[in-house]
Amino acid sequence: MKVLADLTVEKHQQVVEVADLKIGGEELAIMAGPCAVESKKQLLETAVEVKKRGAKILRGGAFKPRTSPHSFQGLGKRGLEILATAREETGLKIVTEVLDSEDLDLVNQYADILQVGSRNMQNFGLLKKLGQVDTPVLLKRGYAATIKEWLSAAEYIISYGNSQVILCERGIRTFETATRNTLDLNAIALIKEKTDLPIIIDPSHGTGQSSLVKPLARAGIGAGADGIIVETHPQPEQALCDGQQSLTPEEFGDLIADLKRVAAAVNKKIIA
Ligand code: PEP
Ligand code: MN
Repeated sequence: MKVLADLTVEKHQQVVEVADLKIGGEELAIMAGPCAVESKKQLLETAVEVKKRGAKILRGGAFKPRTSPHSFQGLGKRGLEILATAREETGLKIVTEVLDSEDLDLVNQYADILQVGSRNMQNFGLLKKLGQVDTPVLLKRGYAATIKEWLSAAEYIISYGNSQVILCERGIRTFETATRNTLDLNAIALIKEKTDLPIIIDPSHGTGQSSLVKPLARAGIGAGADGIIVETHPQPEQALCDGQQSLTPEEFGDLIADLKRVAAAVNKKIIA
């Protein structure tokens, strides 16, 4: 088994295929959608709007990892069904979080990409189970995890049999409290240097503030990220989760138009 972080390994960019989409190639992966699936109307409206503006993959949590047990926990199976309807109606692929090993079989029936959230990055039981499915995995960095620990988590999934891993830098906790997290741009460049895995950036959780999403998305793509995952909501002020960091569809469109130019500067492209 190849050690991912081994510098002696000859670098060879891995491309993760999600049906006809290739993540890690010349085309940037654009994932967008709400933090949580709230209703059929909210998700379908978002899906249509983000597709129109260049997204290829729809995000939306049906099972939500919330800091407080009193916060909205997600619609569960109903949320997954709504995601499937959005896929049927728009052709967008679905990325959604699997919060617990117990739910893996269920979530895997709906997801095109299984998301492992920051709080679960070292849930080794879940990682081992994800190694035993064929579905690509989006492995978010733990907010207090070192890059080495993050790569070891990826190695769990790969060594248990699933090489389709996409990393996601989503910000880490530092002494700085002015923003929700600190997006680690070093990580993007270092991961590109040391591993062959695709890596995308989440400037929504990385900053926690919608006005900062565009500048940090630009920085992430400039640093070599293979794509972005961005929270988008038709009415951010009414979102049940993470409204303060969610873009409106218009802001999302503006972001993509801007990122096309950044992509061109680093020999990548956005096909929108
Ligand atoms: C999310 O993507 O909505 C999420 C909960 O992200 P993270 O696990 O990075 O906090
Ligand atoms: Mn969120």
